[in-house]
Formats: sequence, structure tokens, C-alpha cells
Amino acid sequence: AAAGGPVVIVGAGQAGAETAAALRDRGFTGPVTLVGDEPGPPYGRPPLSKDYLTGGVEPGGLALRPPSYYRDHGITLTGRDPAVEIDRDGQRLTLASGRELPYAALVLATGARPRPLPVPGAGLAGVLALRSLEDATAIRDRLADARDVLVIGGGFIGLEVAATARRSGARVTVVEAGPRLMARAVSAPMSAFLAGHHREQGVRVLLGREVTALRGDAAGRCRVAELDGGERVPADLVVAGIGVLPNCSLAAAAGLAVGDGVLVDDRLRTSDRAVYAVGDCARFPSPYAPGRLRLESVRNAVEHARRVAAVLCGDTPPPAAVPWFWSEQYALRLQIAGITQGHDRTAVAGDPAAGRFSVLCFRGERLVGTESVNRPADHMATRRLLESGAPGPAPADAERPGFDLKAFTRSPQPV
Ligand code: FAD
Repeated sequence: AAAGGPVVIVGAGQAGAETAAALRDRGFTGPVTLVGDEPGPPYGRPPLSKDYLTGGVEPGGLALRPPSYYRDHGITLTGRDPAVEIDRDGQRLTLASGRELPYAALVLATGARPRPLPVPGAGLAGVLALRSLEDATAIRDRLADARDVLVIGGGFIGLEVAATARRSGARVTVVEAGPRLMARAVSAPMSAFLAGHHREQGVRVLLGREVTALRGDAAGRCRVAELDGGERVPADLVVAGIGVLPNCSLAAAAGLAVGDGVLVDDRLRTSDRAVYAVGDCARFPSPYAPGRLRLESVRNAVEHARRVAAVLCGDTPPPAAVPWFWSEQYALRLQIAGITQGHDRTAVAGDPAAGRFSVLCFRGERLVGTESVNRPADHMATRRLLESGAPGPAPADAERPGFDLKAFTRSPQPV
């Protein structure tokens, strides 16, 4: 616990800002400093692949809290001055400007960065990744007059960008190297539904295909993508959404245990008792999945922030909540409750053709999560069910016509 000594948080993103706020909510009165490497106050990233790209949200509308909040709550924002070194013995953090910040507790909330595109031509103008507000503004500027948009990677971000670009009238191609869309995040039936829906909306979805090179014009602006097999696809805006890498070099250089993320225990403590990690950069144990996981979601960032604040205040952290995620593509609201990775059986409830259904995911006979499209009641029922630890429906129950998860969870279950 920080026992009133200074808490320094590295990374002024979702997890960092929520940690600072959660400390004050718990009555922590010591100094709190939020070290950032982006201009402006902390903001939320979800709109960056959605409404922001079409001008539906302005930068000011992204802020997590008004700037006065930090002032009024005694939270110091360093502005754009990244942390460059942790001195663990001296409990001191050095920033790029040379400024040194002593800490009683250090919280790493450094997030993740886009995986670089390993393709010739990746440096051409018009080839962009999407993580920050600066990235999104560059994409938005180009989208305004782009005719042919190529999305590399059929994951959350790629598909959200594809949907937004279609809405803005561009011709859109999605190239996914794997055999199905969003394979890391959703079940095979959900992948198939999403591919069908994007195609209905006029997106050309190519599965099991790779971009081998990007070619530009004399001005160095991307014009064409070459695919395996030799096909050439026009592309004046390319958005690469091929996954992220956790930012853990600061932790690794300080000798903390890392491995696809900063390794932490259930109290979000790293291998150093005074250093914690939260959000996208942290790999943590969860009661809802075997082993340690690293999640990339707002919900996870907020949950970690609340837990670490409790630990730093010497309080018992709240029980871990069921992880959940969401995505918006066209008029579809996809919600995922639970950790569905590693499921071996699925059951579909509702009607995919009507765009309202859920895929229940099972490991053996046990429900581990539900993916819902425009069926929020199934999503909420799954969260409650997993949280309660009560036995869920068996696959055979869920496969019965007319099965209703909410009604199921309300009827008494044999223990
Ligand atoms: P971040 O928000 O990335 O913040 C980390 C911050 O640390 C960054 O500002 C980074 O620049 C900074 N930093 C890194 N190193 C240093 C350093 N050495 N010194 C100082 N600062 C440093 N999640 C959902 O649940 N639903 C969605 O619909 C959704 N949509 C998304 C759309 C987009 C386009 C993106 C990019 C993400 C989306 N996410 C969504 C994911 C969600 O935004 C992230 O999970 C969340 O932002 C994680 O918070 P974080 O604080 O861990 O990381």
C-alpha cells in the first residue's frame, strides 16, 4: 500500500486516468501524478474507430473528464513528457525532460501500440495504424476524400473502420490472413455472421489472403496493394489493424518480470512490491479463465483501476467482475460476456438472419461466455450468471428452439 506517499502513474490513457480518479474516490489524500506522452487531457479511444472518423464526435467530446477535474482533485498531469527510466532501488521515475519523480507506489498503465505492418511500402503516405487521437485524425482527414479504402486485418478495429468507411461512401476491402474474421475474439458462427453482414453492406471481405506489398505514386502516396496470388487492389487509404503489442519496455529495462505484458498477481502487483501494472499492458490471473491473460478493453482498464486503487489504499479489492467487451459495426451492437477463448462447443439462440441472436460458448458442459448481437438481455443474463457461479444452461438446453437465457437464469436451478 502507498500509505499516503506519492503515487506516480505512467500512461495517461483509460487505465491511468481511472486509477487516479479511483484513488481520489477512495479518499486517498497523497500526491497523485499522471505521466503522459500524448498532448491534451486523457481521452477514450472507442469512438476513434467509430463516430470520430466521420465527424460525429469532435476531439473535445472524447475527454474522459473535463480538464478542471484533475485540478480540482489534486491530480498532476505532466503533459507530453514520457517516462524513460525506473530506478527501483531509489523509487524514482525519470521523464524524458530529465524531471525526476519520487514514488511510494508506481503504477504502469502504458497500454499497447499497433503491431508494425511487415510489408514493403508500409511507410507510404496514406498507410496508417489506429491507436491514438493523432492516428484517428490522420485517418479522418484522408477518409474525407478516399475512394478506395483497404483494411488489413479483420479484427475489432479493422471491422469497425471498415463499417465506418462504408458509411462514409468509400469502396472498402478487408484482407484477413486467417480463415475467419475476429478469430481471436469470437466464435466461428459469429465470424461467419460478421463476414456475411459486411458483405451485405458492400465490403469486399477476403479471408485467408495476405497483402504482400503496397505501391505508391511518384509523390509517395499509396495507390495499390498487391495480394498473394498477384491480384492488385486499388487503395488510397490503408488502415492496418493487425493487433497490438503491450508497452512493457520500461518495465523490462527495470528488470520486472514481463512476457507479452507486465506480469502481475491478483492484486496487480509486479515482481516489485512497489510497482503495479493495469490495463492493456498487464498480464494478470482471472477467476474466469485458466492461466494469466491480457485483455484490451475499456471494461478491463476500469476494473483494474478500481482494484489497484483499493490495494494502494490498503483496502480489500472488490471481487473480480466478469470481463465484457463491446463493438459497434453499422447498426450491430456486439457484446461479449466472459472469456470465450478455448471454448469447444457453441449453441445459437435467436435468429442471425434477423440480426438478433446470441452464440453461447461452452467449455465441455460449462457456459464460459456469450456473444450477443442486438440481444442485450442475453449479455446481462450471462454476466449475472457467471458472476453468481450458479450452474448455467447445458448446451442441449440452449439448443432448444425458443430458448431464453434470461428466463433460464430466473427459474430456480438444481445445485
Ligand atoms: P491506453 O488507453 O492505450 O493508454 C496508455 C497510455 O500510456 C497512452 O496514452 C500511451 O501513449 C501512454 N504511454 C505509453 N508509454 C508511456 C511512457 N513511457 N510514458 C508516458 N506515457 C506512456 N475497448 C472497448 O472495450 N470497446 C471498444 O469499443 C473499443 N474500441 C476501441 C477503438 C480503438 C480505435 C482503440 C485503439 C481501442 C479500442 N478499445 C475498445 C480498447 C480500449 O481503448 C483500450 O483497452 C484502453 O484504452 C486501454 O487503456 P490503457 O490505459 O491500458 O491503454
